[in-house]
Amino acid sequence: MTEQTSAPTPAQPMQYAENVLGLIGRTPLVKLNSVTEGIEATVLVKVEYLNPGGSVKDRIALKMIEDAEKAGKLAPGGTVVEPTSGNTGVGLALVSQLKGYRTVFVTPDKVGQEKRDVLTAYGAEIVVTPTSVAPESEESYYGVANRLERDIPGAYQPNQFFNPAAPASHYETTGPEIWEDTAHRVTHVVIGAGTGGTITGTGRYLKEVSVDRESGPVRVIGADPSGSVYSGGTGRPYFVEGVGEDMWVDNYDPAVPDQVIAVEDAEALAMTRRLAAEEGLLVGGSSGLAVVAGLRAARDLGPEDVMVIVLPDSGRGYLAKIFNDPWMDERGFDYDVQDTVLPEWA
Ligand code: PMP
Repeated sequence: MTEQTSAPTPAQPMQYAENVLGLIGRTPLVKLNSVTEGIEATVLVKVEYLNPGGSVKDRIALKMIEDAEKAGKLAPGGTVVEPTSGNTGVGLALVSQLKGYRTVFVTPDKVGQEKRDVLTAYGAEIVVTPTSVAPESEESYYGVANRLERDIPGAYQPNQFFNPAAPASHYETTGPEIWEDTAHRVTHVVIGAGTGGTITGTGRYLKEVSVDRESGPVRVIGADPSGSVYSGGTGRPYFVEGVGEDMWVDNYDPAVPDQVIAVEDAEALAMTRRLAAEEGLLVGGSSGLAVVAGLRAARDLGPEDVMVIVLPDSGRGYLAKIFNDPWMDERGFDYDVQDTVLPEWA
């Protein structure tokens, strides 16, 4: 009797990215369960801190650099120069490192040492400028970046506020990911605006793709710090970082949002603490701000509605601020999440 032999199982291909650039994008959606008490709609968040550089900005960094390469503005031996100390710097530093470019970032002196240390860890060089000079001055943050771009041979300044590759990266990746992952059922998307790239690109894609849908096009809701120009403010200061502007910028297309909701610092920061304590999401203040705006809009929605809120970055960069009780106390912000009753949107 011949022995029954089973066919050898085909070898599975190994699963890995060629390098860390292959890990940018395709971030997951997760449902909020605790802070959404009393809300009938499905509220999902898109977790951008799972990008390799820890924020949504990896997406624009990759596209800005690759578009510059295609246009011949950046070639081997080139240098990327940008006035940034935040998430865009991290994205540009990691993309540039893997592609073999030098990076020089210009940061104002008010930027904390820890943020600079992150950039130098990736191999970037930092030029520090005084905060106390006018923005038009040659010695300002922008002035110095422009001078370095002129003086360093082969230098290229992506300029995230004006570079069309920034909204384009979201039109090509963030928007389609939300559309596919919700099986075309997304009804509302909530996005904070800083440079405007995320809301313009993601919102434009989702509106276009859903324009003829029976249930109507996706509604785009902007989440803005109270005081910022996008929600009718004068540019007065606020604590939430990364969102809001004191001037209109090219990459923010005001035709994309159907509505912009202004959120106070106290609400945004309390919600940021709640997301960490109740949802297991250690995210930054602009994420808390977007969730407040989202929940405020979701109050009026029904069980068939599907809202997606973009959470731009991780809370790790804010441990000394939002997640530090004395820092919150000194500024009069409530953080005792157990006692936080949020009647305005509950
Ligand atoms: N949140 C954080 C923490 C950010 O760094 C940024 C980028 N400035 C944003 C939100 C807003 O994204 P965008 O610039 O695409 O409008």
